[in-house]
Amino acid sequence: MNIGIIGGGIAGLSAAYELSKKGHKVALFEKEAHLGGQAATFEVAGERLERFYHHIFSSDVDIINLIDELGLSEKLVWLDSKIGFLHRGRIYDFVTAWDLLRFGPVGLLDRVRLGLVSLFLRRYKDWPSLEGMTAQEWITRYGGRRNYDIVWGPLLQNKFGTSFDEVGMVWLWGKVHLRFASRARGRERLGYLRGSFGLLIDALAERILDAGGKIYTSSSVERIVVEGEKAVALQVGRQMYPFDSIIATAPSPAFLEMVPQLPTDYAQKLKGVRYQRAVCLVLTLKKPLSHIYWLNISDPSIPFVALIEHTNFIDPSIYGGKRIVYLSNYLSKDSPLYRSDPDELLNVYLPHLRKINAEFEPSWIEERYLFREEAGQPVITTKYSSQIPDHRTPISHLYLANTTQIYPEDRGMNYSVRLGLKASNLALEFSAA
Ligand SMILES: Cc1cc2nc3c(=O)[nH]c(=O)nc-3n(C[C@H](O)[C@H](O)[C@H](O)COP(=O)(O)OP(=O)(O)OC[C@H]3O[C@@H](n4cnc5c(N)ncnc54)[C@H](O)[C@@H]3O)c2cc1C
Repeated sequence: MNIGIIGGGIAGLSAAYELSKKGHKVALFEKEAHLGGQAATFEVAGERLERFYHHIFSSDVDIINLIDELGLSEKLVWLDSKIGFLHRGRIYDFVTAWDLLRFGPVGLLDRVRLGLVSLFLRRYKDWPSLEGMTAQEWITRYGGRRNYDIVWGPLLQNKFGTSFDEVGMVWLWGKVHLRFASRARGRERLGYLRGSFGLLIDALAERILDAGGKIYTSSSVERIVVEGEKAVALQVGRQMYPFDSIIATAPSPAFLEMVPQLPTDYAQKLKGVRYQRAVCLVLTLKKPLSHIYWLNISDPSIPFVALIEHTNFIDPSIYGGKRIVYLSNYLSKDSPLYRSDPDELLNVYLPHLRKINAEFEPSWIEERYLFREEAGQPVITTKYSSQIPDHRTPISHLYLANTTQIYPEDRGMNYSVRLGLKASNLALEFSAA
């Protein structure tokens, strides 16, 4: 079969790779000049680095298997993570049970409750029974108001902004459940590809091209051509590309624009899921800011929600000794911060870096880079399973595989690999016909 794929992120590349492996002809179209989508990289000190911080968990079996299949296993390293929590100007380590027991901002009884709730979510498997409740309702009921106000509430607000109280408990269950799966003897191990996840993207692209597939970058699909309720071609600029089947991995708003004739029910489902925008200001520094890799910020006066010090995870010598820090934000589409240019954003953030390290001086900053992503995080509300659009669209031979369809797990590269696989199988359903 001849299959067209929209989007050169992990899902699109995985789908194209799977189909090429099976001997099908594929053509992949990516609107950006580079491949990788949300997992794309840029260069720091001659080394590749993700535009947005990335690691994997040991439960991410689909991507681990893919890394293995592509011969990249020796590049995959598993390292201890250092998670912290900033509350009222103090950084608390937040990884082990012992850290939890010493977590001063809540009383001893609440700390024990915090540990028990985490343990429960780690063991609990019946997530459908949690579908009717918001994370806020569930945590205040079982984890207690104080734990919600100090720990879980800020985490939800950091990711979902003003939609924090709509987030379904299943989303939080997925986060905690899978995160704990990445633990061994109480410590959390996170995976990274030495050389960046760009190696995975390159290897996928190489295999697709080797198999005779085509990859077109800087090629935005404007329209999916439908004839008699069947998708037959893609329009890119003035060019038409005919296909037997089409897989779209673009975010839902972009997909809707390509195929406005989608029936109302399906289109409504696509419109029903909102996304939080992601914005990362990446700084390279002369000195480290803290000893923590992932610092959750529980302080509404600080205008970013997490500080990820990549070089507390991966050795800075790889980047010529530079320290790399991501100042991360999830914002709603109308937030003025989302449109700020790098210098404006840096000016807003700068005074707050001393709250993380009192000795910080602006002269430590060597370079700054800004990255934005419109479809950063789908807002997963209650009873989400009933809102997920089917991979098989109502238009015959047209399949959708994007991050809004990942559930009950949270979106992540592993699940985009899985999406790609699923969509590639579906796209072949008419191959024998
Ligand atoms: C801040 C942040 C941190 C993250 N951290 C992690 C992490 O630590 N670990 C992890 O596993 N995951 C992480 N993720 C999530 C992970 O990167 C994504 O879930 C995954 O990369 C999504 O891949 P995808 O292919 O499904 O979608 P995307 O990467 O969004 O790919 C879709 C592609 O479609 C293209 N496209 C859109 N419209 C068109 C068009 N008209 N024509 C052609 N192409 C088009 C887009 O340019 C894009 O390249 C993070 C994401 C963000 C934003």
